[in-house]
Amino acid sequence: MEDVILFKNKVNCCGCGACANICPQRAIKIKEDECGFLYPDIDKKKCVGCKLCKKACAYQNKTPQNEPIKVFAAVNKNESQLMNSASGGVFSAIAKQILADDGIVFGATLDFEKGHAVPHHVFVEKESELYRLQGSKYVQSAIGDMYIIAKQFLDEGRKVLFSGTPCQVAGLYSFLNKEYQNLVTIDLICHGVPNAKFFDDYIQMETRKRKGKKVVGYSFRDKKKGWGMNERIDIIDINGKLKNIYVRARANSYNTLFLDGEIYRENCYECKYATRLRVGDLTIGDYWGIEHEHPELLGKYGYEEKKGISCILANSNKGLAICKESSDLLQMNESTFSKVSNRNGQLKKPSEKKESREKILQLYSEYGYEKVEGWFRKKYMKQIIAHSIYNKIPRKVRIKLKKIVKG
Ligand SMILES: Cc1cc2nc3c(=O)[nH]c(=O)nc-3n(C[C@H](O)[C@H](O)[C@H](O)COP(=O)(O)OP(=O)(O)OC[C@H]3O[C@@H](n4cnc5c(N)ncnc54)[C@H](O)[C@@H]3O)c2cc1C
Repeated sequence: MEDVILFKNKVNCCGCGACANICPQRAIKIKEDECGFLYPDIDKKKCVGCKLCKKACAYQNKTPQNEPIKVFAAVNKNESQLMNSASGGVFSAIAKQILADDGIVFGATLDFEKGHAVPHHVFVEKESELYRLQGSKYVQSAIGDMYIIAKQFLDEGRKVLFSGTPCQVAGLYSFLNKEYQNLVTIDLICHGVPNAKFFDDYIQMETRKRKGKKVVGYSFRDKKKGWGMNERIDIIDINGKLKNIYVRARANSYNTLFLDGEIYRENCYECKYATRLRVGDLTIGDYWGIEHEHPELLGKYGYEEKKGISCILANSNKGLAICKESSDLLQMNESTFSKVSNRNGQLKKPSEKKESREKILQLYSEYGYEKVEGWFRKKYMKQIIAHSIYNKIPRKVRIKLKKIVKG
């Protein structure tokens, strides 16, 4: 029997795991490479050569991608859901609508197991569990066997909302290989994913800095200091006392390297979903630049820059219908693709690969995260100091200062 080759080049695998989910022999395991990125690996002793894995590979086969039908600015009307979301809380409003209809919602969560960060996909059936999926986790979430479980619910006739990066949504469609009327999908505007091992090593370094304390929670986008990129680390001391530490993304290594596109998976730099043509029924993201595109909305209908504002692309009639059904929970105002994409380059082309990526990943695989941190501190010293000072200035004062600078 001829060996099945899943991919010849890393650029041809997004690590969604559709191949592992479809394999009837369970012969495919998802393993970390030397830098921590996830790739499928076939156990040749178990493989029977059926090649279902090759057929289920969305990344190497064609996936239907649609032109957005309508585009909106949007914000969740529920204050607490909005504040627990990264952007305008669109995801939780739609998820709530699905759950109220006895549906199931799939998405990414970030668990901490024995002090280690574990980003992975899960499903929730109750609104009280929705908090687990809220908030952006800027790291690849492991799909595990969630495609298999989603199919089981779909075959039982339950309504399913599946959310994730565009490649994860494409992976689900490819795995299912059948149209389901009871499935709704949401893909994110995505500029690329670092891997879970790299992120956890960053968390472990932060833990070591605080002797005797343990990291028990983490938010990539805490809104205490407004809508933007502010991390929050939750630590407990030996007496169980919880403390929240707030750091601007630009003052820490992981988030800066993420934002600058230095540590994504290989294929993210050639992502075929970073375009106007979308995979999901809905695409959601931050409405960056809304102050230029829709100044008339700000301060009205719940649109507040400090609380977060989303954009929605409705890419199918099903997507548009669920938006309309959620209108009690969501404030939506029509916008255009051109306005939304003005400051969201990932809707036009993939992130650019930086020369320093290889250097950073080489340092990491040979010497570990501490060396990456050392490199970062040397290169970004001025930025770290500037942002650490900025972090200490109260928001009201910062806004006043900005106005003075702008004249
Ligand atoms: C890796 C990544 C890159 C992104 N890049 C951009 C960008 O360049 N421009 C932009 O406008 N928006 C980007 N986003 C989307 C943005 O950060 C928000 O997630 C999105 O606007 C939804 O916000 P919300 O307030 O509606 O819901 P929230 O409650 O903040 O988000 C929850 C949703 O995000 C999903 N999710 C969170 N983390 C992950 C993950 N690691 N993998 C898969 N799904 C995840 C959950 O499943 C759920 O559907 C990115 C998100 C991720 C995870």
